[in-house]
Amino acid sequence: MTKLMETKKLPEKFGMLVPRCAICEKVPQGGIREGIKIRRGFICTNCERMIIGVDAGSNEYNQILLKLRTLIKKAF
Ligand SMILES: [Zn+2]
Repeated sequence: MTKLMETKKLPEKFGMLVPRCAICEKVPQGGIREGIKIRRGFICTNCERMIIGVDAGSNEYNQILLKLRTLIKKAF
């Protein structure tokens, strides 16, 4: 009985790698569901929205781009 309950308690994402955002380096509370996976990397919903809203060519944009490039390079 106890064993059965323990099995049930285990979250679905148990054993999976906890996603860490490549841009803000935070782990979202909702785990992998609160963001998008890019190759082996991960970007949280907040940063995803930021990327969409940021002006192309701005300082922020360039910084995000740089991090994304590093992320993609790491995956290889
Ligand atoms: Zn983030």
